[in-house]
Amino acid sequence: MTGIDRSCGRGAALKKFPFFLPFAGCRGQCVYCNQRAITGALSVPSPDDVRRALKKLTAPREICYFGGSFCRFPKDTVKEYLDAVTEAAPAGSTIRFSTYPGDLSDDAMRALIKSYPVSRIELGIPSLDPAVLASCRREADPDKILGDIAVMMKDSLPVGVQMMIGLPGQSRESSIRDMEKLAALKKNDIWDMRLYPCLVITGTELERMWRIGCYKPLSVFEAALWGGEFIDRAVELGFVPIRIGLQETESLASEAVAGPHHPALGELILADAEARKLVRCSHDGPWHVPRRFISRFTGHGRFGVKRIAEYAAIPESEACRRIIFES
Ligand code: SF4
Repeated sequence: MTGIDRSCGRGAALKKFPFFLPFAGCRGQCVYCNQRAITGALSVPSPDDVRRALKKLTAPREICYFGGSFCRFPKDTVKEYLDAVTEAAPAGSTIRFSTYPGDLSDDAMRALIKSYPVSRIELGIPSLDPAVLASCRREADPDKILGDIAVMMKDSLPVGVQMMIGLPGQSRESSIRDMEKLAALKKNDIWDMRLYPCLVITGTELERMWRIGCYKPLSVFEAALWGGEFIDRAVELGFVPIRIGLQETESLASEAVAGPHHPALGELILADAEARKLVRCSHDGPWHVPRRFISRFTGHGRFGVKRIAEYAAIPESEACRRIIFES
């Protein structure tokens, strides 16, 4: 029995309750990023806004601060947002946030974060290739990024990573090498992973680059295959994919102007990853697949079946015959 499962058998997690703080704390704007367009959130809720919303909850949740660089706020502001959770959310709630990798290199910031029930710190690490990072207008010292993560690990802070594919100047090989470097650092730790295939969003520098022909985005098919290879290897190395592709929203649908924008891109990537794994483990099958993954194989024009046929070098009808769905 096999299957790439986004929960990967972990215990029941608390339901997430997200707040979007668009560009909060960010020092610049990465070329591909337009948080307001992606999330539809136009303003940053204050700690009091957060408190008011959390007081309405009746059960513990994982309270999330996304959409900016949380620990680039001044320390007092970070504390106010954390206090809002511990004061107003139901007991047992935890906190998850996304931030820039180096934001926890400061001892006082780490000490502050450690004093709250933080369940996961998602670090934006779209790439570790200095040239790719520089083209994305991100801080471009991979050794510092890895060193900063090591410091967090020493303090037992729970790490997660947000990575990307299809960035300007990025190759499939370099993206997988980056992820393998992170795997070498994490060793046996369990790290959540989000994978975002790069989209061209209105109002970004990437849109300008695309319009003048300096950037060629991936097609949906290219993203499915690159993402499939990436996720297959990531799961093998012990990462837990919790999200693949941006959450589809009305705002995203109207603001993504080019690139692999598809409401089921995550499923296509998981189907490709699953097909790679199945054929790697048994080249000729039969392939036993949990029934709950049936749509990955039979949905979207039998995408998963086609990928198995391709990797096993057999006709699609034969691939179909050798896949056995099991309860
Ligand atoms: S990708 Fe992250 S760090 Fe870059 S602009 Fe967007 S929110 Fe800020």
